[in-house]
Amino acid sequence: MIKKLLDRIFNSKSAKSLAHASTTVNPTHKAQQRSKLTANHAHKQPDLPHHGALSIAHKTHKIDRNLLSNAALKTTEGLHKAGFEAYIVGGAVRDLLLNRTPKDFDVATNATPEQVNRLFRRSRLIGKRFRLVHVLFGDETIEVSTFRGSHLEAEGDAKVSDSGRIIRDNVFGSIVDDALRRDFTANALYYNPASQEVLDFHNGYADIKAGILRMIGKPETRYAEDPVRMLRAVRLSAKLGLKIEAQTQAPIAKMADYLADVPPSRLFDEMLKLFLSGHAMQSLAALRAQQLHHGLLPMLDVMLEQAMGKRFIMMALQNTDQRILAGKSANPSFLFACLLWHEMIVAWELHKKSGQHLMPALHLAMNEVIASQAEKLAIHNRYTATMKEIWAMQPRFEQRAGKRPFALLTHPRYRAGYDFLLLRCESGELPMELGEWWTAFANAEGEARSAMLMADSAPKKRRRRNRKKPSATPNVAD
Ligand code: ATP
Ligand code: MG
Repeated sequence: MIKKLLDRIFNSKSAKSLAHASTTVNPTHKAQQRSKLTANHAHKQPDLPHHGALSIAHKTHKIDRNLLSNAALKTTEGLHKAGFEAYIVGGAVRDLLLNRTPKDFDVATNATPEQVNRLFRRSRLIGKRFRLVHVLFGDETIEVSTFRGSHLEAEGDAKVSDSGRIIRDNVFGSIVDDALRRDFTANALYYNPASQEVLDFHNGYADIKAGILRMIGKPETRYAEDPVRMLRAVRLSAKLGLKIEAQTQAPIAKMADYLADVPPSRLFDEMLKLFLSGHAMQSLAALRAQQLHHGLLPMLDVMLEQAMGKRFIMMALQNTDQRILAGKSANPSFLFACLLWHEMIVAWELHKKSGQHLMPALHLAMNEVIASQAEKLAIHNRYTATMKEIWAMQPRFEQRAGKRPFALLTHPRYRAGYDFLLLRCESGELPMELGEWWTAFANAEGEARSAMLMADSAPKKRRRRNRKKPSATPNVAD
């Protein structure tokens, strides 16, 4: 009880001292504080100017301030004015140094999530495993995280599994601690927009300039803490053209199984990032080369062994990469529908062989494929609904008689279904003529469109339909 009380008092004191870190440092105590800081991170001493990091000036790094988002600048300014430290950190700094436009901006600060939340009117606290704040300016969201400390220290809210995986990570710390728990040296650079300095704790600047992706600390331990870091290594190296440093690379092959421990929804998020990075083809090739793809998308490895399945998946990824690199959006549902299509075909055939009719067999296969997938990698519900629509539309493209083609054109997902059909034709699964017919049919008008309709070639169905009134005709695909 007393220990708890002392802990609480100590924690609130260290939180306060952290909050005033940037303004209350007495220079005569610098040396003393530096030795304390390195001797024991658990005692969160006020941070020193530069915190013992390499300070890279603007004349060296030459980051163009105009490339920074206004929202990120407003966020760091707001925090600075309130007496906190605040830096743009992580991927944005790395991308700017690589002359790339950052996808998003993250800010790190010594203010607690609650303090950040109170400071910005349009902000909200989010996350459980990793508590942070989203600050909103217009349609931009800046992710603000409080400097994290080491999870190995007892205080605060942290949890580690038996395999060493970090389950919760809410121990706050100093900027030094925060840099130490980031994944790669290139991701541990802190840019202060006010002074235009970059603080570099782990030689990330030199690594970026040398084109190297290097894990901070002992790679084995860092992968055990969070196996997703293996996927991040593959994704970031493919996307940024960085070479994974030898020791960072070495443990990956033997630690691939650790991914089985990661919650399926987190794996999905990471795979989505990988597939929508604009470098999906390279990333998938790298995942396979490193034996990391097993179990991520069950059966994907089997499909990639089959000529037609491989062709289909490669074409889908190529399409997605081209769209992303051209600045267009790519629909995750479409992509995952593609990745699982040949698995669908196998399951569908099995159900047809066991005596099920075409559409019931398709629906059984869809549910099965999605369910088996969810054990490893949980595709969000909002995507599975569209995936099923795209799949369920496919048999309808093979019906080119009567009113059915007109009805299909008005389907809200027609475009996605049609693009999917084209991929099936181009990969050799269906004759090209079918895709061409639909292209022409959609573009034709009035009489010309009606003239394209084929004679109903299904005598059995026609006989059945003839017995009913035309208005009661069931749609085979519904
Ligand atoms: P991207 O360009 O895909 O956004 P990123 O490196 O910015 O790449 P984020 O997921 O946005 O990736 O993470 C922001 C920062 O948080 C990273 O740069 C890194 O410093 C840190 N980080 C993210 N994931 C991890 C992790 N699994 N382990 C340690 N640090 C991480
Ligand atoms: Mg990022």
